[in-house]
Order: sequence, then structure tokens, then C-alpha cells
Amino acid sequence: MEDKKPSHKLLCYGTPVVAIALGYLLSKRLSSNSEIIGGIEMGGTNIKLCLAKRSIRDMPFKIIGEPLIIKTAGDDGLSIERDENGISPYHSKIFSKMIEFLTSQGPISNIGIASFGPICVDPESDSYGTILNSPKKKWVMFNLVKAFNSLWEGPKPSITVDTDVNAVAKFEFGHGGHNAKKNLAYITVGTGIGVGLVINGDTCTGLTHPEGGHVCVNRHSNEVEEFKSVCGFHDCCVEGYATNVSIAKRKNIDIEALPSLDDTDPVWELVAYYLASLCCTVTLTCSPEAIVIGGGVMNRKILYKMIQEEFITQMHNYITHDKITKENVDKYIVRSRFENDCGLYSALSLV
Ligand SMILES: [Zn+2]
Repeated sequence: MEDKKPSHKLLCYGTPVVAIALGYLLSKRLSSNSEIIGGIEMGGTNIKLCLAKRSIRDMPFKIIGEPLIIKTAGDDGLSIERDENGISPYHSKIFSKMIEFLTSQGPISNIGIASFGPICVDPESDSYGTILNSPKKKWVMFNLVKAFNSLWEGPKPSITVDTDVNAVAKFEFGHGGHNAKKNLAYITVGTGIGVGLVINGDTCTGLTHPEGGHVCVNRHSNEVEEFKSVCGFHDCCVEGYATNVSIAKRKNIDIEALPSLDDTDPVWELVAYYLASLCCTVTLTCSPEAIVIGGGVMNRKILYKMIQEEFITQMHNYITHDKITKENVDKYIVRSRFENDCGLYSALSLV
């Protein structure tokens, strides 16, 4: 019978090798632990930034100090004059604030940007980091990576870009506690609607990135008669019917006044109906093991229960699975345990 015990000779030579290897790994871990990284969440009306160190505990990052929020004053829908580097005084002011914050604790090695889309996320492309056909006209064809590189003085950090929703989907897949093995979807509902997808453990990109906010939905029979889709591209998409812009338009109030609406306002039934339709589409096409929903509109927390119930109604017992039941749907369509910080954590997780 073969002797499987390790030989004394092997132990003698092996021990120092193991010790050196462990020492090397520990020094790498310690050095990466002291390295400062930056996370940027590019939203429709706010840009959120934070600095962090990598952590060796259950959370991968430890945020240093308070995040910075830069209000971009929304978007008036107008394009803007830019210089030969594609930068206007409007952008320059925002980027100066960002760089000042990001360098406030010393040199920074890496930045992760989770941005609204559509945006080029192909690292091989010359357009990597360029915001494409966005309704936010001031940012159309604006390259975030090139702007940082052109305005950053001193050693430039490495920059990784992904869509805000794909980044959160990946972060929630890894750290959200959803017990997802293969697929997960993240939906954000704010001034736009985005759908991020993790498929077979990785974010879904291909031709570009998914744009699930623009799938068509059926108009609710109780829809406000004169109301028309607010999407500039489509008459029937979910972004046209369930964003904060659409809610404000139906109620003829400013977006800032939306928190004053009562929970019993009939508009929430409409919003829940359209978002439940989107959840059905995502479930039927991508088979996620969890759907996480976030974004400003979802701070109206009654929406979760309304979406879950409407989702079960619309699904009509088609999919046979424990999670797609009245009893368990609250563990299938969920809020992030990181609440509104999931965007920043996901940006950090890109680096
Ligand atoms: Zn649309």
C-alpha cells in the first residue's frame, strides 16, 4: 500500500517555502489594505463619491469619512459648448470638485465609476467611459475616463467603468445575502429606469449592456387619461411610465414635491403595476434567483409589497417555484440591505 504520509525531507524543505509564501501573501494583503481607492456613483441629479480602504473582514471595503454629494442641478435638456477635449466649464467645475475630494487623503490608486447609461463599457474601445445617447444632454458623448485623465495632475489612477445597475447587480450577487448561485437582477427606479443583470455569475454585456428600462409594458386600464410616456424614445416603455418624472407629470408637481404625496395616492398603484410587469419580463427572460429594486422612487417603501402582489397576479402561476408564491415573493423581490449605499459599494467593487 502506498505511504501517503509526507516525507520528513519534504517537510524540511517545504516549511520555509510555505513560510515565505505566507509572508508574501500577508505583505500583499497588508499593502493592499492600506491602499486608498475611490468610488463614484454617477446619478441623474447627484454624483456621490467616497474614499475607502480594502477590508479583510466580511465587507470588502471600509469607507473613510463621509461621502461627498455633488448636485448636478439636474439637466435642462440642453446640450452645452465644449472645448477641444470635450469639456465645458460646467463639467470642469464638477470634475475639479471630484478630484479635490478624491486626492484629499493622499494618492489614490484606483477609481471605480458606476454610471448612468447608456455608456460604453468595453475596455478595448476608444470610447470606453463615454456616455452615449442619454436624455441628459449635457453628458451625451462625454468621456468620463478621458476627462479625469486630462484634468488630473500628478500620477493618474486607474479607472474602471460599468453601468450603475450592472455594478450593483454584481455587488448584490456577491455580498447582498440573496443566496444567488447564477443569476440576479437589479432594477433602479429614479429619473430613469435601469436593469442590471448577473448571468452565470458575471455581469451581462454583449452588443452593449442591457437596457431593460425600455421594454414595452401594457398601459394600465386606470391610467391618467391625458398622460403620455415621458421617455423621449418610446411611447410604451416602463421608463416612460414609472420614473419620478412620470409621477410628477401625472400629479402636475415638481419631482422635489413627490415625498409629500400620500401613500394612498392612486399613482402608486400605477407605478407598482408597471414595475411588476418589468419584474415579470426579467423573470421570464433571465430567470434571476432574486430581483433587487432600489433608486429614489423606491424610498416609497409601500411599493415593495404592491409590486410583489402585482407580480404574483401578473405571473398567474406560470412558473412553479417556491420563490414565486404569495408566501415567499417578499424574499424574491427585495430591497438592498445596503439601502441607498449600494451604489457606492458597487462602484468600489469595480476596482
Ligand atoms: Zn424608452
